[in-house]
Amino acid sequence: VKIGSPRELFGGEARVAMTPDSAVQLQKLGYECVIEAGAGKAAGFSDEAYRAAGVTVVDGAEALYAGVDVIAKVRPPETAEVERLGPGKTLISFFYPAQNKELLELCKEKGASVIAMDMVPRISRAQKMDALSSMANIAGYRAVIEAGNNFGRFFTGQVTAAGKVPPAKVLVIGAGVAGLAAIGTATSLGAITYAFDVRPEVAEQIESMGAEFVYLDFEATQDGAATGGYAAPSSPEFREKQLAKFRELAPDIDIVITTALIPGRDAPKLWLADMVAAMKPGSVVVDLAAERGGNCDLTVPDQKIVSENGVTVIGYTDFPSRMAAQASTLYSTNIRHMMTDLTPGKDGQVVQNMEDDVIRGATVTKDGEITYPPPPPKIK
Ligand code: NAD
Repeated sequence: VKIGSPRELFGGEARVAMTPDSAVQLQKLGYECVIEAGAGKAAGFSDEAYRAAGVTVVDGAEALYAGVDVIAKVRPPETAEVERLGPGKTLISFFYPAQNKELLELCKEKGASVIAMDMVPRISRAQKMDALSSMANIAGYRAVIEAGNNFGRFFTGQVTAAGKVPPAKVLVIGAGVAGLAAIGTATSLGAITYAFDVRPEVAEQIESMGAEFVYLDFEATQDGAATGGYAAPSSPEFREKQLAKFRELAPDIDIVITTALIPGRDAPKLWLADMVAAMKPGSVVVDLAAERGGNCDLTVPDQKIVSENGVTVIGYTDFPSRMAAQASTLYSTNIRHMMTDLTPGKDGQVVQNMEDDVIRGATVTKDGEITYPPPPPKIK
């Protein structure tokens, strides 16, 4: 059986779903690997490097899709890509089935099987395939790097012959995977880092990374925490307390990284226009929730703007692609682990075992049947 990766079509996308290294591992599972010419170029993987790893390089997406059984890619497929699927073909990529119902229908009509990397259940056994986490980790790191690049000062405090430099103060809102990565990056650069989350159980993780958890004077400490480790919308009283705290912090904070998300909803607005207005000129806000509407009032998705009082607000939605080599390496490893679970015989044959919680959870169509949403997983 052949597995292949095309060049990504989404504008500016630099990642690739197969690297020369991941191809070597896939071959050990019994697969023949194919790549579209130039697919790895933007991530730093040349056609020559793929050939050296035993990968067949083909010209054009048409030849790639026609010649392989399993297609591994990064972004959800475009309509033209789904048109190239058919019975017996399996697509593995990010898919977001809840937001892409028409695409799901089209995959069904084509008779194809689709495995959505964003639907991999977040259970311990599946961590090696958890591409949402591997990409969120990069986004959190890169958000701090982008902030630093736009902040005209040091992160770390210094005493120099030319004067004393205070450390930068960073506030991270939302301490999930991306937020914790941002906290780790900011503290390692020497900033004084504060973090807030509606889930009080993350306080310990925040503190263990050298940041300070921002406590609210609020009795119902579980407000905003839902089951399964995700957040729920906060009550109006809780939200008021939270915003009041942020207002108090705003004049003193140099960099704000927001990552707050609630499953199935637009991102909550947490860093409001008056808070941006209260920040010092030269301060920076990086809004990792931009794609879902943003946590900051001033965020413009995919853009960097400067507020009237000189605060830079960054709403880029392509942070993992901005570190394409690293992101491709981690994502292709997530894919390779998924293929390992899909290949129990290590014989280059895909077995889509629907009794397996992880495979069941990620499978959104199977041989032209829609299998989304999956039943809740049996193992926690
Ligand atoms: P996410 O991207 O859905 O949300 C980011 C963070 O924003 C969350 O921590 C959330 O609590 C927070 N948030 C929401 N509303 C907020 C508000 N009003 N103010 C402040 N913060 C707010 O989260 P994620 O990174 O996908 O992680 C979600 C959960 O999944 C976490 O508990 C994480 O530990 C868990 N997880 C488990 C596994 C695993 O076991 N394999 C893997 C990854 C993540």
